[in-house]
Amino acid sequence: MDLSLNDEQQSFRDLARTFLEAEAVPHRTEWDRNESVDLSIIPKMAEIGFFGLTIPEQYGGLGGDYLTYVLGMEELGRADSALRGIVSVSNGLVGKSILGFGTEEQKQAYLPGIAEATILGCFGLTEPDTGSDAGNLTSRARRDGSDYLISGQKLFITNGTWAHVALVFARTGGPGPKGVSAFLVPTDSPGFEAREIKGKLGLRGQATAELFLTDVRVPESARLGAEGEGFRIAMTTLAKGRVSVAAGCVGLVQACLESSVAYATSRTQFGRQLAGFQLVQEMIAEMSVDADAARLLVWRCADLIDRGLEFGVQASKAKLYASEAAVRAANNCIQVYGGAGYVDEYPAEKYLRDARVMTLYEGTSQIQKLLIGRDETGINAFV
Ligand code: FAD
Repeated sequence: MDLSLNDEQQSFRDLARTFLEAEAVPHRTEWDRNESVDLSIIPKMAEIGFFGLTIPEQYGGLGGDYLTYVLGMEELGRADSALRGIVSVSNGLVGKSILGFGTEEQKQAYLPGIAEATILGCFGLTEPDTGSDAGNLTSRARRDGSDYLISGQKLFITNGTWAHVALVFARTGGPGPKGVSAFLVPTDSPGFEAREIKGKLGLRGQATAELFLTDVRVPESARLGAEGEGFRIAMTTLAKGRVSVAAGCVGLVQACLESSVAYATSRTQFGRQLAGFQLVQEMIAEMSVDADAARLLVWRCADLIDRGLEFGVQASKAKLYASEAAVRAANNCIQVYGGAGYVDEYPAEKYLRDARVMTLYEGTSQIQKLLIGRDETGINAFV
């Protein structure tokens, strides 16, 4: 499916696909088994520009519009969702928070490094007792002279053990979202510890960590935005993050479609190709419609963002639809492969394991439905 991509968008997509076909696809099963991508791919990805998409050229990025960014995320999702997550968090959640809310000094300090991936970022919002209910997080940042001392625990943090800087959300004020502030915390700060979480179902190539902060001292200049602005920063950034997750899911659905077609046209049963059976075609047709529908929802968001318009509810719709579609498509991809879909010699089982988290993180499907429902009815089901 192609709408009107300009030459630059088209050539970035082609470059991204060629690179990932050569550098990621042949290795993704091994990375998945090892529970880590080969980190030497990170600087190579930075050279292609993945980490600098939408970061302005003055800060070392490629600049570029949001449509180019979602094309990049789709290609990453098509090749290996673990890689997509590494970029989405560092460039997307952390880089875009700094770009949107940082001081000039913070932008100069972090954005060039993020664009060239010499600085990897992680986004520390979720805590053991507050996931969907992030506005009630309990990590604390208390004033000590002109510094802050941050203490608390964060859970399921992507890039956590690899990151050089953690965007940490901690409470500086009273209860609820208005008491939360955001801080850029170097991960080599005394009192900062990251422990890797092993044994994930999917996205096994990327690091996921638990963070422990014990009186981590940061200067006032490490605060991102004003005191009490942290939750707004997190939610603003996560709205864009949802578009990125959704774009990755489009890539996953596309990958399921392509590999299902390849397998179903190459294997025969009952003396004919699997693809010749109507019930197999039904699964393939559903993947094809899902890929187009999810992509259109994602591209609508990119277009709204590029025009500076409100896109929050549209991002929830794109994320809800694309993530559920990714689970559906991956499940059906295994069905098309039959028993072969159940072993990691073929990509289908990894697609399903990777897809499964997409309906959980950056706002579960239930949370997206509540956001969409609130928009439609005017009634807030969260309170
Ligand atoms: P809960 O909030 O406990 O939800 C459990 C269930 O209850 C869900 O089905 C949910 O939809 C439902 N539920 C909760 N509240 C409601 C409600 N009001 N109405 C209806 N249903 C409700 N977090 C970060 O901060 N940074 C990261 O980099 C990051 N990376 C992650 C990577 C992975 C691999 C995973 C698994 C998680 C990651 N997360 C990260 C955390 C993720 O965002 C949370 O897991 C997610 O927000 C859900 O929170 P929870 O797990 O606490 O589930």
